[in-house]
Amino acid sequence: MTSTAPRVRAASEPPATSLDLPVTRIPGIGSESAKLLERMKIQTIGDLLWHLPTRFDDFSKFVPLRRLVPNATQTAVAVLGHISQRRTATGKLMTEAELHEEDGTPTQVRATWFGRAFVKETHPEGERVRISGKVRFFGRTLQFSQPTLERADAEAVHTGRLVPIYPLTEGIKPGQMRRWLHTAIEGGPRRTGVVGEVPDPLPAAIRERHALPDIASALRQVHFPDDERRLLSARRRLAFDELLVLQLALAQRRARWTAQASAVPLDVPDAELAEWVAGLPFTLTGAQQRSLREIRKDLARRVPMSRLLEGDVGSGKTVVAALAARIATASGAQTALMAPTELLAEQHARSLGALFRNGGPTHALLTSSVTGDARRAILAGLAEGSLDVVVGTHALIEEHVAFKRLALAVVDEQHRFGVRQRATFREKGSGTDPHLLLTTATPIPQTLSQTIYRDLDISVIDELPVGRKTITTHLRTRDQLPKVWEGIRLAVERGQQAFVVTPRIDPPEDGEDDVPSAIAMEKDLRQGELRGLRLALMHGRMAAKERDAIMRRFADRQVDVLVATTVVEVGIDIPNATVMVILGAERFGLAQLHQLRGRVGRGTERAYCVLVSEAADSERLAAMVEWKDGRPLNGFELALRDLEIRGAGEFLGERQHGVPELRIVDLADVDPRLISETAEEADRILIGDATLERPEHGALADAVDQLWRRYALA
Ligand code: ADP
Ligand code: MG
Repeated sequence: MTSTAPRVRAASEPPATSLDLPVTRIPGIGSESAKLLERMKIQTIGDLLWHLPTRFDDFSKFVPLRRLVPNATQTAVAVLGHISQRRTATGKLMTEAELHEEDGTPTQVRATWFGRAFVKETHPEGERVRISGKVRFFGRTLQFSQPTLERADAEAVHTGRLVPIYPLTEGIKPGQMRRWLHTAIEGGPRRTGVVGEVPDPLPAAIRERHALPDIASALRQVHFPDDERRLLSARRRLAFDELLVLQLALAQRRARWTAQASAVPLDVPDAELAEWVAGLPFTLTGAQQRSLREIRKDLARRVPMSRLLEGDVGSGKTVVAALAARIATASGAQTALMAPTELLAEQHARSLGALFRNGGPTHALLTSSVTGDARRAILAGLAEGSLDVVVGTHALIEEHVAFKRLALAVVDEQHRFGVRQRATFREKGSGTDPHLLLTTATPIPQTLSQTIYRDLDISVIDELPVGRKTITTHLRTRDQLPKVWEGIRLAVERGQQAFVVTPRIDPPEDGEDDVPSAIAMEKDLRQGELRGLRLALMHGRMAAKERDAIMRRFADRQVDVLVATTVVEVGIDIPNATVMVILGAERFGLAQLHQLRGRVGRGTERAYCVLVSEAADSERLAAMVEWKDGRPLNGFELALRDLEIRGAGEFLGERQHGVPELRIVDLADVDPRLISETAEEADRILIGDATLERPEHGALADAVDQLWRRYALA
């Protein structure tokens, strides 16, 4: 097996190209500037080339001075007339230049600058200049205020073109950064640009197939575009590379797992499986059956399964996972089921107890609260193989609990299960690898599943069990709160419980927005509207143990109303809770609101969700009460709506998908066609050269290595 581990260049090897030289080799970058650049992780000339502009000022169109209009940013060619300097009333230095038409005809138009003494020093009267900036009326004459100035016979860098605007750090001026990049790319007076030395990762055949410019012109155009069309084409080229490399990397990893890993094939006769399913207290939905079939097929192979089971809250993922565990048991192997919290693990252990009642696998809960003899017995059972299924948290894997024959690992509710974390399961282990089943309630947009989930297969449960009662959702404003509290009182009188969720923990300080806080709300309600009820407070600053204890009291009905932050978003089932009040609801994302709402309505009683907000026009809140085909929008529809409303930024943050920012591509609004194109190209490349060893793929292989190194995933 050829290693795809990073090939690290030996330290003694001389730099192969100018790209590896320090930035100080660029004229104009001294050691002080280099230090500032280092703060932005720019050390070499190569790093500098990849410091891309975030946007452009369009200074490409020239307007004669007499045609300038007020309140717009414009560019003109002018001859400098008289230049004067004076102090303003506030003591600031003001430079003012009269501007003449190109043929020398005087005009009323002027240019003014505050500070910038150098304007007068570097630009003599009579010089022809390009001038770009905002034009305003000053009295009855037009003025450029704080414009950018460049000699008309100099190359257009700062004016008269699409002018790149770069991310900066304190101490570096916009013009400096632009000048340095221009020198790096186009060369300075005494040297040529280094952009031609950038190795092109794409073989010419691929470039031609997708009509992509070569890397040097793409880099040139992405910094100093000739026009918008070339800029877009250049950006497409760089995005293509980035997506292709990401997909090659994940596809190779998958191939590596497939080739190196060997799992225990798990199967069960049809009749036996049918018997278990018939013994369940309910009928599986079509989507559950389909997912189960997909999982069963994977389990029967020697190649370890890597499957994501995606389904809305309450869609019944647990029973599918439990049946998978049962298949493992029938094949004489063990299963580890891992939940994000100990409390959820306890809940799973209880559910399994019910599902495995008649002759099912032996199982046990192993959390930090299981100690002493009980713990020793479980560990022994796992080591000798008498225990079939163990339920716990991720600590099960991290602490190297010894199994006799672990063949299936189920990771429940992993919304934050990124590329990085997936690796730890596979690449740590030795011997046989467990089949891996991940479950999530977060729907994955297609663009994502084609890229960063390329190393996973996906099963979707897109159907809720029949007879699920819908949760009645109301939008209310703050002045309607008395009615809301009254509703909670009535529910508690009926023996039910309620959640009250706030956006923040602490009350606002002076001058801060008046955002509802858990601490203040709990106190107010306890002393006021809900006096006499049993209230409890829970938030993210409390230790996990303390939170678990409160949750347990709530589950045991020793608490009527739980006032909390979103820490209750995922958690154990409280079937007796029928009211969810969300204060400051406009501050939550749709996925979050949906998840919170799903915390009630798990029992037999009617359940309510009240969204309290002053933002009457919030599209998100409207979506929460929207109906379609006689039912409220489900989690998938809400997630899509969320993407439409605010773009995928939040959805795709590192937090969610676990992939650090890409350099070029914004996965939130990348053209899906580019994803398919690169996906196909990745397949084509790997079919012919699975390990990227052909010389024409050398630069791509290096790029894959660099990606692993950058993400520290190798
Ligand atoms: P989630 O997908 O959110 O993990 P669970 O697996 O916890 O959902 O299931 C939610 C509830 O629905 C559980 O009480 C479970 O017993 C029940 N359930 C699961 N599948 C079905 C079904 N096909 N019909 C009826 N109830 C079901
Ligand atoms: Mg679940």
